[in-house]
Amino acid sequence: MSKNKLFQAEDKNMSKVCSVCGKGKLSGNLVSHSNRKTPKLYEANLQKVSVKNANGTVSKEYVCARCLKSGKVERA
Ligand SMILES: [Zn+2]
Repeated sequence: MSKNKLFQAEDKNMSKVCSVCGKGKLSGNLVSHSNRKTPKLYEANLQKVSVKNANGTVSKEYVCARCLKSGKVERA
């Protein structure tokens, strides 16, 4: 979990980062049929969900679809 805190501290735009795994933007190219490449940023599939925290409180967090599906957060 310390890895996640590192991600959170470094990224200033918190709303574009998963609060569980720290997944954020991915870079790649759009490739046309003539093979010209255009830089493109892909954002994580983030959902704003109510999460039950370890101390029993409930908070709204941005969590990526993968973390939701794998049950890494308990939804409130
Ligand atoms: Zn995640």
